[in-house]
Amino acid sequence: FASLLSPLNQISSLYRRVMSNAVDTEQLIELLNEKKEIQDKPHPVELVVGPEGADVSFRDVHFSYDGKVDVLRGISFDVPAGQSVALVGPSGGGKSTLSRLLFRMYDAQQGSICVSGTDVRDLSQRSLRAAIGLVPQDCVLANASIRFNIAYGGVLRLDEHGNARPGMELTMEDVVEAAKGAAIHDKILTFPDQYETLVGERGMRLSGGEKQRIAIARTLLKDPPILVLDEATSALDTHNERLIQTRLRELSKGRTSLTIAHRLSTIVDSDKIVVLKDGLVAEQGSHSELLAIPGGVYAELWAKQIEGQEGSAAASALPSGAT
Ligand code: ATP
Repeated sequence: FASLLSPLNQISSLYRRVMSNAVDTEQLIELLNEKKEIQDKPHPVELVVGPEGADVSFRDVHFSYDGKVDVLRGISFDVPAGQSVALVGPSGGGKSTLSRLLFRMYDAQQGSICVSGTDVRDLSQRSLRAAIGLVPQDCVLANASIRFNIAYGGVLRLDEHGNARPGMELTMEDVVEAAKGAAIHDKILTFPDQYETLVGERGMRLSGGEKQRIAIARTLLKDPPILVLDEATSALDTHNERLIQTRLRELSKGRTSLTIAHRLSTIVDSDKIVVLKDGLVAEQGSHSELLAIPGGVYAELWAKQIEGQEGSAAASALPSGAT
């Protein structure tokens, strides 16, 4: 990727095209070095999703990275359109892996993942990725300015024909508004060249939390009907974390959302919580239903968090009558 974008003038010319929305989405994705091992079928289906999102279903999904260790061993659950589902469970249970399969960075070895009833393997990757806003735990920034890194979210939007949405012209105000929404604007103003500061491998190093906030700003601009949020494990400072949580909650309202959560206090209001353990769905239900399972995995995780550092935050988020 670095070598692709190395001449600075190439960045600026690409950037101008981003801002005028004339850039080809596919070309942009290539430039941003998305994995290309997964290929579209000869005549893929173009996914069309309304603003309210789409049903996402996982059916008996099996997956192994190396062909030896089974990371997912038969996962089935649904995310109904417009609802919020949280994935929780012990570290290494396969939560992030599921989000990668939905985004089709890899294909499941057995079973299927469907969006709007169509297997993701039959969809064009371009339309699938246009419909989903992914805020990963450890996002990689493009070797370009902060402005570019936020703005390209906007050109990843497609219309119902799979073309970059026409007439959508990004302005600097849009970029700044998205950065404010992601609670990163003030921080950007402290950087040497503000929005023009180069980031990525050869630019200024940003913290994990800052990178994630850039990814959130990009997603705000992309405005996708389906959201996949992989909550950062490394704690951000509490003030920013609260801001981001509020923003993410607003963002996921009325959309289909899958949130991978490490702090249970942030997902108690989800329509459904799916507990993943050792590559299997151990339990699923609402917060209060899961707490009612004696000796349950979720009940145990909850108790641990109450005891732990986050005890006070978790306890205060406990809905009345949920014990
Ligand atoms: P955490 O809560 O710590 O983020 P998780 O539930 O999201 O964990 P995954 O990241 O999906 O779990 O990982 C599941 C298993 O797959 C782990 O054993 C992990 O070591 C392994 N794994 C994850 N990514 C890869 C990879 N790229 N190559 C090989 N193994 C991987």
